Amino acid sequence: MGRIVQIDHVGIAVKNLDEALKLFTEVFGLKVRDISVYEADRVRSAFVEVGESAFEVSESTDPEGPIAKFVEKRGEGIHHVSLRVENIEEVIEELKAKGVQMIDEKPRSYGNIKIAFVHPKSTRGILVELCERL
Ligand code: ZN
Repeated sequence: MGRIVQIDHVGIAVKNLDEALKLFTEVFGLKVRDISVYEADRVRSAFVEVGESAFEVSESTDPEGPIAKFVEKRGEGIHHVSLRVENIEEVIEELKAKGVQMIDEKPRSYGNIKIAFVHPKSTRGILVELCERL
């Protein structure tokens, strides 16, 4: 059976990543683990460590990209909550069996991470990401 282990990270959507990171580094005193561009998702994202968890702070690299649209509609702020799971394929099947609508029916791979988004229609408006670290 798939299992939800912990909050892996909280996704934050911002207009300007470098400006926004000052909050996490200078104000909160946290460390940036990694900054990467994800071409397919049209974002540039930084992982900011908070113990076992993290913030994933993202800016859009394209004015028409999903993060740009989100910020335009809802302003900067919390974009998604990522739940770390064991066996993401099983968790997806279990959620589907419970009638939950998925954005990603099959997980997407990013290096040694697999993720899948749950449709916010099924989660009271909260965009939930499932994440398995291999
Ligand atoms: Zn995420």
